[in-house]
Amino acid sequence: MAEVGNELQRHAAEEQQAQTDGFHLVIDALKLNGIENIYGLPGIPVTDLARLAQANGMRVISFRHEQNAGNAAAIAGFLTQKPGVCLTVSAPGFLNGLTALANATTNCFPMILISGSSEREIVDLQQGDYEEMDQLAIARPHAKAAFRVLHAEDIGVGVARAIRAAVSGRPGGVYLDLPAKLLAQSMEAEKGRKSLIKVVDPAPRQLPAPDSIDRAVELLKGAKRPLILLGKGAAYARADADIRALVEKTGIPYLPMSMAKGLIPDTHPQSASAARSYVLAEADVVLLVGARLNWLLSHGKGKTWGKPKQFIQIDISPTEMDSNVAIAAPVVGDIGSCVSALLGKIGNDFAKPGAEWIGAVDERKEKNLAKMAETLAKETTPMNFHGALRVLKDVVKANPGISFVNEGANTLDYARAVIDMYEPRKRLDVGTWGVMGVGMGYAVAAAVETGKPVLAVCGDSAFGFSGMEVETICRYNLPVCVVVFNNNGVYKGIDKNPTGGADPAVTMFVPGARYDKMMEAFGGVGHNVTTPAALEAAVNEALRSGKPTLINAVIDPAAGTESGRLTNLNPQSSASK
Ligand code: ADP
Repeated sequence: MAEVGNELQRHAAEEQQAQTDGFHLVIDALKLNGIENIYGLPGIPVTDLARLAQANGMRVISFRHEQNAGNAAAIAGFLTQKPGVCLTVSAPGFLNGLTALANATTNCFPMILISGSSEREIVDLQQGDYEEMDQLAIARPHAKAAFRVLHAEDIGVGVARAIRAAVSGRPGGVYLDLPAKLLAQSMEAEKGRKSLIKVVDPAPRQLPAPDSIDRAVELLKGAKRPLILLGKGAAYARADADIRALVEKTGIPYLPMSMAKGLIPDTHPQSASAARSYVLAEADVVLLVGARLNWLLSHGKGKTWGKPKQFIQIDISPTEMDSNVAIAAPVVGDIGSCVSALLGKIGNDFAKPGAEWIGAVDERKEKNLAKMAETLAKETTPMNFHGALRVLKDVVKANPGISFVNEGANTLDYARAVIDMYEPRKRLDVGTWGVMGVGMGYAVAAAVETGKPVLAVCGDSAFGFSGMEVETICRYNLPVCVVVFNNNGVYKGIDKNPTGGADPAVTMFVPGARYDKMMEAFGGVGHNVTTPAALEAAVNEALRSGKPTLINAVIDPAAGTESGRLTNLNPQSSASK
């Protein structure tokens, strides 16, 4: 008996002295908080962190460039309301990831960029370490928050603070700096376990003040030509049923911003998308739900907004109010709480907008939809944007549960207008910056996070920024179908070098390039299509098989307009006009 007792004592003592280290504590802290996936690129000093994360049951998706991994993490955050995690090496890898972190912050997506870094002592004395850089200082202006952990026992706090900062209030990107030395630090396993924090209520509800709701409802009740504008904040908030109830109960026409398309199906009778210019100009009271009055909405003023109007704005960020124009009725709180409070106050006696307003909106809609149907129906050879989009519109209609990633100039503008979305958070695009290069990162994360097929429609220029990730798509065998609208160049593929010299024009790519061969090079399926029918067949085959596929859709090089819809933002010399 005594021997068994001794044995147990010895075992307990060993247990007590069991050690853990920085690597394991980071992984345990993430897992404890329900973070299951890491998007990253291994290398010094985080290779073992990535390896151990995989060994410990996390899904680690390794990319070919950190910016794409970062974009994947950012959109994972948008899709899940949990911070998407991107893992990079120091200095250059960190900087590559930082672009995505800044993009996440700009778009209000929760993300944590975790980068390994060099030794503080050497960095701070600028003594020239391997990949030396003061990463924390560089990250700070581009992130919602930035933290560095120096001691293993602080990893729990560091991860908890990063999670809270990313998802609470207005979501955004957070930088977490982990010096190489920290990862190797060891400490008693039991103490380490106790130092971790499971974050309770990371994004607490923020209830609106009752008087702000009264003010908003009064304004809505007095409106003759009201409009509801839904932004991607509304899509992120996951208050889908209440938002739909608010729209339907009030009978007010609504406009979805690009990534809010599908929050209510685009085919809903109250959608005013096809009468966008008309409703923006004519409305007298506009209720903004998770949408900022930034450049995408002409800052709430000017010709676009026509007649004088009053704004009600629902946003979690109090300082968003009055940022461009006066907000008559600010409603500050989380969208779920604000919309349900509005619903409660509106009651069943709310007088829906009069027939005059609804009739005028419907009339514009019908006219514009008929015009669009005519444009789409035209058979053109070579295939133009609309011919290709006609079939993709039908594909999305038949497969409403797929994620639709979209980037480019003309490819983006036309697709946004033509392709109806039917489910929330399915349209993932260039967002607040109108940035190129998010395509493959978003596509990978959408496939990983939803487990459903992804259709990514990219301009040939946009695709180039992240095209190498087709290897990643093949390596993880993801059900991603990429369609490259290939018109041989940026905007168009017919520009000439004005000097007549041998170099191509600055906006030109190799004519007749075969992007489909890139996918084939890594074992995926490639198609080269020149007609809408062939495009439709190839996309349907890809969705059916779930195999990584790239379709090179040959588009008329002369199709497309300079800068897409953003011509007004691109100063042009008098020579090019
Ligand atoms: P869009 O580009 O679609 O117009 P924006 O990105 O400009 O949308 O606006 C999103 C807004 O939504 C931001 O101002 C952000 O603060 C807000 N927001 C994000 N999540 C929430 C939430 N849960 N509750 C309230 N507001 C939110």
